[in-house]
Amino acid sequence: MASRSVWLAASACLVVAIGAPTGGRAATRTIANPALSNGLAVGSCPRGELSDEGTCVRADEGDDFGAGEAEPNAHHDRSGHYVVYDQIPRRPDRPADYDAYRYPIPAGLAHGRHVISGYDLDLPDERQRRGAKMHAVGHGGVDLPGAKGTPIATIALDHQEGDARVVFVGTLFGNTVITLHTLREANGPRDYVLVWGHLDAPASGLEKGRVLREGETLGTVGDSGSPELVHIHLEARRVREGRDPMKLINGEAILDASIVCDPRNVLPLQ
Ligand SMILES: [Zn+2]
Repeated sequence: MASRSVWLAASACLVVAIGAPTGGRAATRTIANPALSNGLAVGSCPRGELSDEGTCVRADEGDDFGAGEAEPNAHHDRSGHYVVYDQIPRRPDRPADYDAYRYPIPAGLAHGRHVISGYDLDLPDERQRRGAKMHAVGHGGVDLPGAKGTPIATIALDHQEGDARVVFVGTLFGNTVITLHTLREANGPRDYVLVWGHLDAPASGLEKGRVLREGETLGTVGDSGSPELVHIHLEARRVREGRDPMKLINGEAILDASIVCDPRNVLPLQ
């Protein structure tokens, strides 16, 4: 429960920070812009916002402005070292409520909730996830509890073009599959990877290069690398410019070639 309260606190913090309503769709945020009030400067809103009768309004999720910009953050790792890293926080127009999104397995084991521990790499160091048995501080994905052996359905991300492709099957976070997804963003297509960790097993015969259509089974829920905590660790990462995960052989190299991202920026909405 400790980790649960961390992600709930995370949501509350972000909501306060952006002044958006809790839960549901925090899609539209009106920003008074004196420069536009005379109506002469139509079209000069900042990137990601639209001009609307003399004000700039935040685009809603039906529009297409990419998954956000990378920002630096830092935390103390388990050995006490201060680690600075890139991460992409949740965009303000994406709902804070994890239940607003679709997931690859049914909700069930955590009082009907899908997510028991959420993304916290955008939070101050002291508010990130910690635990005596955890290998690392901070949490760069969502943890989805499920019964061992439950089939995991491939998901198509918001604004995804084409099918996903498998770029890694092996050991990373326990038994792990990494899939590649191309999203349509404002400046053109961008590649993301989804890291699926702690699987009981990948689907039989799954290998690098395999195309996965939405709904196809990519593996089963397990606790590999996370004994007795049966769940999927699902992490979304934006591939760095100029990098091609298909050319990388091991999971660590794919992590190095990508920037961790709040999954709510790319998960499909309910
Ligand atoms: Zn996790």
